[in-house]
Amino acid sequence: MILDDNDTVNILGVHIHDVTAQDTLAHIVRFIAAGRPRQLVTVNPEFVMEARRDETFRRVLNGADLALPDGVGILWAARMLGRPLRERVAGSDMVPQIAAQAAEQGHRLYLLGAAPGVAAAAARRLQRATPGLTVAGTWAGSPAETEAPDIIRRIHEARPHVLLVAYGAPQQDLWIARHLRELEVPVVMGVGGAFDFIAGVTRRAPRWMQDGGLEWLHRLGYQPWRWRRMLALPQFALLVLASRMRAR
Ligand code: UDP
Repeated sequence: MILDDNDTVNILGVHIHDVTAQDTLAHIVRFIAAGRPRQLVTVNPEFVMEARRDETFRRVLNGADLALPDGVGILWAARMLGRPLRERVAGSDMVPQIAAQAAEQGHRLYLLGAAPGVAAAAARRLQRATPGLTVAGTWAGSPAETEAPDIIRRIHEARPHVLLVAYGAPQQDLWIARHLRELEVPVVMGVGGAFDFIAGVTRRAPRWMQDGGLEWLHRLGYQPWRWRRMLALPQFALLVLASRMRAR
């Protein structure tokens, strides 16, 4: 961890950094200057619930160099537990900002994951929005270990400063943790469905729904097969409330 424990909030066993989007961008610049590989994770309530089931995932999240508070559910939980976080820092919102900063600083970006063609389409959109952005490469690949040597070879050849990985949680974050050292990329971040949003494959909830904590409802409308996973949300809320009662 780059920050000490006073800067993190523990939500049901998962540590989250109290950082803003601006802080996150500043940390990214620092990480790139320092050069050693760092892992960024974007923690939402589904991550926390998965971490309670999966010890390895919990260790990966707590070992990340930067754990961003992704989602109003996390902000709500932090408030309930008496340790409010300053700002929601959603991975999908950060990607265009990371790209803009990379263009400014002359850093190269690599987009790994999503369905074939989606990362390339997202890269084109990012480049259109951010003239001067260098995308060192895009590749769908898969988080299967048999593909890892090929992916790592591609990334070594491209030598990006920032690698964004869209294999969905927890696979993307586990994959990053397994390969962080050998990737030799200073900033590696799991971004879930971000390439799908940027490429226009899926649509993000309108801002008012996001701010009202209703992003899950929008998602359920588009991706009804996620209903089972979404049961994690009320369970998360109940556990947070129980933990608050115990602390009183
Ligand atoms: N994905 C992939 N390979 C896989 C599993 C998933 O490329 O083996 C991609 C998928 O195409 C999508 C992203 O990973 O772009 C997962 O998006 P989702 O919105 O499900 O992210 P989550 O909310 O699970 O983090």
